[in-house]
Amino acid sequence: MKTVYGPVASWRLGKSLGVDLICSPKKICSFDCIYCQLEKTEKITSKRDTFVSINKVREEVKNAIEHTTPDVITFSGMGEPTLANNMHEAIETIRELTNIPLAILTNSSLLYDENVQRTLHNLDIIVAKLDAPNQELFQKISHPAEGITFEKTLSGIKAMKKKFHGKFALQIMFINENKNYANELAELSREIEPDEVQINTPLRPCAVPPLTKKELDNIEKSFTGLNTISVYHSPKPMADPLDKLELFKRRRMEL
Ligand code: SF4
Repeated sequence: MKTVYGPVASWRLGKSLGVDLICSPKKICSFDCIYCQLEKTEKITSKRDTFVSINKVREEVKNAIEHTTPDVITFSGMGEPTLANNMHEAIETIRELTNIPLAILTNSSLLYDENVQRTLHNLDIIVAKLDAPNQELFQKISHPAEGITFEKTLSGIKAMKKKFHGKFALQIMFINENKNYANELAELSREIEPDEVQINTPLRPCAVPPLTKKELDNIEKSFTGLNTISVYHSPKPMADPLDKLELFKRRRMEL
């Protein structure tokens, strides 16, 4: 399995080349979200580990950027990218190869960890997940690993935002379970003061249905005063993946 996939046509990041530091055929994540487009999390864990070598990352990113010019290189893939304890080295290695901005899509569960904060500080863009405004809903939607709580995750998001000098976006996936909590989530967003709030609903095949455009438009009204973008209103760029099979492993509908 390659560590690099895409580029992907991302409605929030543009043409995004994925770097998967988990790179496991079975997802490894600190959550098991009910809307995850990947299969059920076989290994729910908050323990950081090394999954791929930096040499592999260097070789594959070098090769990919010789053949494509993405807008951004994004840490994402077969689980929660901050579980990879060699992300710091991966960032340094990619910086040596290119000036393309570096981003991460994170579920926010490990942002409380100061080592993770120090690593992510070296990125240009952080997209941090916040799907629930309380512990009960957090548990119901995210099924987190033992020891990961709503309060811990929220305080991690706030601490990371305070330290970070790049673009900090919050991503909120709205589904039936949290659609009536838009005001509470908007209130928390105002406390966090992100540069952008990404209003999302799962449009790719998964176990729960997406909300309609009308429902998402109504939800967006709760976020007045914040800089929002919504999945139904954001055009996707054209992107031609270098290896369709690698993309299919992470995003099932794109083959
Ligand atoms: S955090 Fe992402 S990869 Fe992990 S279970 Fe949730 S949606 Fe899937």
